[in-house]
Amino acid sequence: MALKTPAQYVESLRDGRVTFWDGERIDDITTHPRFQLPIKIVAEDYVYDDSEYGTLRRYKAEDGQQAHRIYQIPRSEEDLAVRVELMQHTSIGTLVTGVYMALMSVKDDVAKVNPQYAANIERMYNYCRDNDLRAAEVITDPKGDRKRRAHQQDDPDLYVRIVERRADGIVVRGAKLHITAASLVHELVVMPTKGMIAEEADYAVSFSIPVNTPGVKIINRSVAAAELNPFDFPASSHHSMPEGFVIFDDVFVPWDRVFLAGETQLASRLAQSLGLWERTGGMVEAVRISELFVGLAQLVNEMQGKDQDPIAQNSVAELIAYAEMLRMSLDYSCRHFESTASGMVYPNTLGINTAKYYYAVNYHQTVRYLHDLAGGLVLTLPLESDLRNEDSGKYIRKYLHTKPGVNVETRMRVYNMIRDLTADAYGGWQFVVALQAGGGLPAQRLMMRRSYNMDQAKKRALIASGAELPTTP
Ligand SMILES: Cc1cc2nc3c(=O)[nH]c(=O)nc-3n(C[C@H](O)[C@H](O)[C@H](O)COP(=O)(O)OP(=O)(O)OC[C@H]3O[C@@H](n4cnc5c(N)ncnc54)[C@H](O)[C@@H]3O)c2cc1C
Repeated sequence: MALKTPAQYVESLRDGRVTFWDGERIDDITTHPRFQLPIKIVAEDYVYDDSEYGTLRRYKAEDGQQAHRIYQIPRSEEDLAVRVELMQHTSIGTLVTGVYMALMSVKDDVAKVNPQYAANIERMYNYCRDNDLRAAEVITDPKGDRKRRAHQQDDPDLYVRIVERRADGIVVRGAKLHITAASLVHELVVMPTKGMIAEEADYAVSFSIPVNTPGVKIINRSVAAAELNPFDFPASSHHSMPEGFVIFDDVFVPWDRVFLAGETQLASRLAQSLGLWERTGGMVEAVRISELFVGLAQLVNEMQGKDQDPIAQNSVAELIAYAEMLRMSLDYSCRHFESTASGMVYPNTLGINTAKYYYAVNYHQTVRYLHDLAGGLVLTLPLESDLRNEDSGKYIRKYLHTKPGVNVETRMRVYNMIRDLTADAYGGWQFVVALQAGGGLPAQRLMMRRSYNMDQAKKRALIASGAELPTTP
């Protein structure tokens, strides 16, 4: 087995997968204009040359073979730090393959309930790693009426469920929504979206299947246009990734690809493990973006001669506080890691959930500082084509002049970055992603309450109050 080349990755997508986009059934995504940019972005993660990133991307796996580092199981703080670095330089289309970290981190717990499922996790992990495959995180069900449980919905298929158990495997039906890069990966790793009770045994299901499995259909949607020039779209031209509405129309899954089939006590354990790794990825991106906010705000201030203005300086200070809180909390979570029984380390549960929560609840008001400083040009700046057109370009250069030393083209690039990142289609995507991706705010609130040392907090509160401590029975 070997690492794939970018060309082999592209070729591997030509496998009969059933995809739709904008009303069209697409038989070969590799030749369709809508998929060109996202495929190119994911293909770049298959470049394993001797450059800095090419080297960062690969590691020597346990069997001595080279593999993409997304599969490296962290065993130390240093490994986690390298993983964070990898995440900073990897497309979301590859990062979702981190779903295997979630599976490997619950393997010990799964083994206690069903050793065969644990063996399936390990075998599938090895298979995907050794074949240099990418996998999507397929967890969010449509969920119907949020007040009712999975088995109480008007339509029993509103959560993915087992409709048939056979000697050779299970048949599943349902859909999973918002699945990042579903059409661009090789494997769909399905998990329950939340804990399940005894009556929901058919909904406690987890497995991995190839995207081209009969009965799988993916309807795509993306904020990005088919073509994005890097001058006008400096952020989204590097991030154009469709989300998939994934349908499982009575799909057969052989037993050796099943990780859970009715053991409800494991459902929330799987969902939570994925949440942790998704939120870790979200924090890596949050740190990157929040640092950009600081730089962009300061550049706008300096370019427009308002860097000495106290209000403008306050806004930059607010942006620094946000960026540093995020950076420090990600750093803390990796330094104070936790471990599984078999020695895999993962970021601190309370730390990551608190960090992600802080990032999400403060994101919108933090962007406001940047918008406030930057002014209306964020939305109304002419396009690059108008700058390059001599007749219109000369006016753009003349009237966008601010002061000596400020290059108009640089100023335009800074404004395009602000618009693309925070105020255009991709910016709108970021607004919702901050809140919902990796699980909405309630998921983090729940995990914070579960992982906080409440007994210690209560004890300290009682002591501080001068009250008597309850006697332990
Ligand atoms: C761009 C993007 C990419 C994503 N990528 C993936 C992916 O790759 N894989 C994946 O599996 N998922 C993915 N998600 C899905 C994401 O995890 C969910 O959007 C998130 O968990 C919220 O679920 P929901 O969208 O079903 O909204 P809802 O469940 O409707 O939740 C929205 C809000 O409704 C409220 N609410 C929910 N339930 C209740 C209730 N019972 N009672 C009262 N209030 C309630 C809460 O305030 C909650 O925040 C992605 C989402 C986005 C936006």
